[in-house]
Amino acid sequence: MFDYVIVGAGLAGCVMAERIAAVSDKKVLIIEKRNHIGGNCYDYYDENGILIHKYGPHIFHTNLKHIWEYLSQFTDWYEYQHKVLGFIDGKKVPIPFNLNTLHELLPESLAEKLEEKLIDKFSFNTKIPILELKKSEDKDFKLLADFVYEKVFLNYTKKQWGVKPEELDSSVTERVPIHISRDNRYFQDKYQGIPKNGYHKLFEKMLKNPNIKLMLNTNFKEVIKIIDNKIYLLEKEFKGKLIFTGQIDELFNYEFGELPYRSLKFKSETIDKKYFQEVGTVNYPNNYEFTRITEFKHLTGQKQEKTNIIKEYPEIYNKEKNIPYYPIPKKENKNLYAKYLKNKKKINNLIIVGRLAEYKYYNMDLVVNEVFTKFKENILNE
Ligand code: FAD
Ligand code: UDP
Repeated sequence: MFDYVIVGAGLAGCVMAERIAAVSDKKVLIIEKRNHIGGNCYDYYDENGILIHKYGPHIFHTNLKHIWEYLSQFTDWYEYQHKVLGFIDGKKVPIPFNLNTLHELLPESLAEKLEEKLIDKFSFNTKIPILELKKSEDKDFKLLADFVYEKVFLNYTKKQWGVKPEELDSSVTERVPIHISRDNRYFQDKYQGIPKNGYHKLFEKMLKNPNIKLMLNTNFKEVIKIIDNKIYLLEKEFKGKLIFTGQIDELFNYEFGELPYRSLKFKSETIDKKYFQEVGTVNYPNNYEFTRITEFKHLTGQKQEKTNIIKEYPEIYNKEKNIPYYPIPKKENKNLYAKYLKNKKKINNLIIVGRLAEYKYYNMDLVVNEVFTKFKENILNE
């Protein structure tokens, strides 16, 4: 009855379903264990009509024109450029650390000298990862790097990941490099925005195709089994393809042990005033147990009388208790993942895609791009 079965109705699962249904005109079943579509991008309107990202702030940003155009078929955009402040030494200053941050936190003469030297060495409008600047031999750059490392990165990273920045792949802190510019935006991508009527509406539109059937509240283990490298759907051998967007270790019954993930707890509060803070997100590297506070009205441009904020409290991941929001990028985890991937290769009809299944710290745009690639390679010409 189905040509394809997809596990997970997150971004990866929904885009894959849409491509299969619309381009290949084939039948697809999506199995999702939560009670909603959209995975971690899901949003909803609260009792005051405020649009809230249930699993933390999701700002869409990309330089890939074809991805932007593809998603624009399913939504209009609220044109939003994300701004983040960091609460440091009693002040709220621009993050990523840039020339404005430098002048706000350091004495003027020192800031001026450092600005001149930074522009001279790296030139204006360039980005330098903190762990790279830390290796500098120049004593002024070393002083600056130690300062930024201590004030911005060290304690935030210890809270978020439970380890120091240098214990993770450098790609983690490279997401937020020092920016030698006066541009206070968090991202510089060409295309940025928030779906005007919410991510949930975007996903609903994607799945609105008679070729797509959706099964919510169902763990794939209840309906799918893999025995001797063959796929069974409701006890019958399934000859179509299985697209898996969940955790690869779960798929293979934790055969080589559990892959580590990091989780979060989100605490949402309604506040009886128009705005709570100056910008979309304020980071608290050195204070409190939460890492950041996001106020959604800044992201969506809504004009309600009340406002809503979410605080993010990082947690150890436990498969019985919480959600695996982040893969933990470091060498030993990649090695363990590689063992699982070898297993996958034994099953011809299995396609692995998405942030969990590929164990990659993907932003949304790269998830969509990855789905496009896998669709083209494995499905389009069938
Ligand atoms: P998911 O959204 O995790 O979807 C996987 C789906 O599979 C889930 O719905 C899950 O319930 C389901 N599933 C898992 N196991 C099973 C099972 N056993 N049976 C059935 N179903 C199962 N990206 C950006 O570009 N910009 C941002 O601002 C941004 N902010 C983020 C903030 C936070 C706090 C987090 C955690 C992520 C953020 N991201 C952001 C990344 C973004 O969330 C991901 O790139 C995207 O959601 C990945 O989609 P996915 O489909 O691969 O994974
Ligand atoms: N980071 C930090 N201080 C900050 C912002 C980011 O130390 O003020 C580090 C931290 O390790 C974090 C990583 O940079 O996990 C990536 O930050 P990003 O904002 O991209 O995280 P995400 O939005 O994916 O949670």
